[in-house]
Amino acid sequence: MILIDGKKVAAELREELKQEVNELKTKYNKVPGLTVILIGDMAPSQIYVRNKEKSANEVGLKSEVIRYPDTIEEKTVLEKIKELNNDESVSGILVQLPLPRHIDKQKVIETITPLKDVDGFHPMNVGNLSSGYESSVPCTPLGCYLMIKKIEPNLSGKKAVIVGRSNLNGKPMTQLLLKENCTVTITHSRTKDLKAECLEADIIVAAVGIPELVKGDWVKKDAIVIDVGINKTENGLVGDVAFDEVSKVAKALTPVPGGVGPMTIACLLKNTVDCFKRSQK
Ligand code: NAP
Repeated sequence: MILIDGKKVAAELREELKQEVNELKTKYNKVPGLTVILIGDMAPSQIYVRNKEKSANEVGLKSEVIRYPDTIEEKTVLEKIKELNNDESVSGILVQLPLPRHIDKQKVIETITPLKDVDGFHPMNVGNLSSGYESSVPCTPLGCYLMIKKIEPNLSGKKAVIVGRSNLNGKPMTQLLLKENCTVTITHSRTKDLKAECLEADIIVAAVGIPELVKGDWVKKDAIVIDVGINKTENGLVGDVAFDEVSKVAKALTPVPGGVGPMTIACLLKNTVDCFKRSQK
């Protein structure tokens, strides 16, 4: 069984991006810039943003974090986003979620210009992805996609089952695999026989939030299994896949932690570089 080492794949991607940023610097005499807006002092968000900033600096991006207290008015945040939309030194804008209740998440997402939407949440990017056009793609499913491609470069005709239909994970994952000519089934909480669906799959992507939902006898021999879930349990962090059981049947499997997680930030950097490149066209 291939244990897909997310840390290693993410480090390789960061190295490629570092070289690319260097080449862009030579070509355009400037580097891509990522600006993160962080509202409030929730500990997980603080940690995510610190990691994003560290990784951005590591690959040579210009990175900036704008911090606001959680009492900040929505109007101020939207005005700042509009200012960043017009700032040529900013290639990518990310507003760290979740937001305080008085700030409308959808309004924030739609105020970021689709050209700088490094999270891929703007309806224009969602539409472009589902139409098969060039777009920013949400970072977590993009990371899953890149890891699957490392294991199996030709996905044409493969049967993929996506467990979970969130806008953040399941839906964009479906679009990415459709584009690769997979036959994709998207499942959710009302799916009648999830085990039977999974047993058909050459590729399973689990993004549910239920510890060890996908069992060993749900998985076809030699399937590729990607575990997006991060669940805190008495036994520490576990994914949505029963790792010990599934590792006995799968061809390749991501661990939790150390699988999908490290790829998410690396893909944010990739999206920033890609936004910069599109802006220079
Ligand atoms: P979400 O928005 O809560 O969506 C969960 C999805 O799972 C929903 O579509 C839901 O179906 C479906 N579901 C719930 N119970 C089910 C069941 N028994 N059988 C089949 N499907 C079921 O979750 P999310 O934001 O996509 O996150 C999923 C997991 O990924 C969480 O553990 C989260 O922490 C983790 N995550 C990890 C990363 C990373 O970087 N590794 C990033 C983001 C999220 P309905 O639509 O019918 O309700």
